[in-house]
Amino acid sequence: MSICPKGKMSKSKRDKRRAQSWKIATPSLVVCSKCGELMRPHRVCKSCGSYNKLNVIKVD
Ligand SMILES: [Zn+2]
Repeated sequence: MSICPKGKMSKSKRDKRRAQSWKIATPSLVVCSKCGELMRPHRVCKSCGSYNKLNVIKVD
């Protein structure tokens, strides 16, 4: 048995699904709690090298 759609998907529903792709292309950013710089969430801050308010890597 294979997947068989029961009914035709409406244009609006189809287009709404395709409109989701921009979410992947746009990276989400959060403000660093230590230096206030924009950074990726769950990543070490590039400008001050801190994560979870602790210095993880050395940055000049
Ligand atoms: Zn920072």
